[in-house]
Amino acid sequence: MHHFSRLDADPLRPLCAEGVQLSDIAAEVGTPCYVYSRATLERHYRVLDESLQGVAHMVCYAVKACSNIAILQLLARLGSGFDIVSGGELQRVLRAGGDPRKVVYSGVGKQADEIAQALRVRIHCLNVESEGELHTIEQVAAGLGVRAPVSIRVNPEVDPKTHKYVATGLKSSKFGVTPEVAERLYHAADRSPHLRVVGIDCHIGSQILELDPFAEAVGRVIELAERLRGQGIAIEHLDVGGGLGIVYQDEEPALPHELGAAVVAIARRHQFKVIIEPGRVLVGNAGLLLTRVVGTKTQGNKQFVIVDAAMNDLIRPSLYGAWHRIEPVHLHAGRPLQHVDVVGPVCESGDFLAQDRALPAMQPGDLVAVFGAGAYGFSMASNYNSRPRAAEVLADGEVYTLIRARETVQDLWRGELLLG
Ligand SMILES: *Cc1c(COP(=O)(O)O)cnc(C)c1O
Repeated sequence: MHHFSRLDADPLRPLCAEGVQLSDIAAEVGTPCYVYSRATLERHYRVLDESLQGVAHMVCYAVKACSNIAILQLLARLGSGFDIVSGGELQRVLRAGGDPRKVVYSGVGKQADEIAQALRVRIHCLNVESEGELHTIEQVAAGLGVRAPVSIRVNPEVDPKTHKYVATGLKSSKFGVTPEVAERLYHAADRSPHLRVVGIDCHIGSQILELDPFAEAVGRVIELAERLRGQGIAIEHLDVGGGLGIVYQDEEPALPHELGAAVVAIARRHQFKVIIEPGRVLVGNAGLLLTRVVGTKTQGNKQFVIVDAAMNDLIRPSLYGAWHRIEPVHLHAGRPLQHVDVVGPVCESGDFLAQDRALPAMQPGDLVAVFGAGAYGFSMASNYNSRPRAAEVLADGEVYTLIRARETVQDLWRGELLLG
């Protein structure tokens, strides 16, 4: 569900973000530009949050999916917590007015200064990813004279049936620890005067379409949690991670309220508070990438549409072979369908937004919308080829707000130094 549709719901009229014409945004802000829909984002948050009403819970939005501080602010105002994976993300959350007591901190490479920062602002807990990290946390906490709240991230060895780059709960992945190691770490944490066990967590991957892998993973985590409880270790919350998939093309993902209902049932049966760490499912379809056609080109038997957005703006097609729906903003009568690759100006053959796509013939200056770009779009953008990163705007009813100014070339070399 999203609020990007054609004016007056007429399939021949121009595309809008809520009540704002995309062509107005392009004229005023330029392209490429990320356009988010506030109504879509808020709706997605509420649906998930309401699906968990039957149990004490925290929705901790995974900041890395889309980390613009206005987006974080919007979610914080709805009551959202945050799942962070770096000190930088923590600072973004604080800047956006997020409540540190609703922050969980995941990630395999937490450094002492990042841990210290998190403990100083009293986040809800650190999701521990290894034995070494538990020791580091203990030392940092001892140095600060505090007790660090911890949860051990269990790697349940479940196949989430998704792209291999976003499967994180397999035996071969770098995340979490096995249930056996987790058990040992819980006992170590329980004995330590500088650590306080608060929960248990897992996160098995991203763009997961079925409920079964979640159920299997949570089942294994609960089995361990119940054993630990039997040994006298109190575990208050169950953090089921994120990873629920969305529709990009013709997927049929399980719906947020279905996941919510399953989680509530389990949490009630086992008396857990619940944490969930959704990223993509909240923002993925709440954002699109607006780009303009630079030119067209025929090479051999291939036709290319060259646009002003590239892999540095949206890397998902290049990195994961991801499919994004693409539509012209304006539809013109009499333009025949052509099979084209939509590519950017970056000097890599892997620089494409779409391959072999049937689209109405394009002309320079035409505007094109790339759907489903809200998650892992701007947040994965780079400056490769010295391309300033795109602007970001938030549409809200009949108006829109600039939430990130387009970078300038001077921004790119800030910090670089010429030789004397
Ligand atoms: C990335 C990540 C998430 C969010 O994943 P989505 O697929 O975007 O929902 C949640 N938890 C952790 C630990 C992550 O690394």
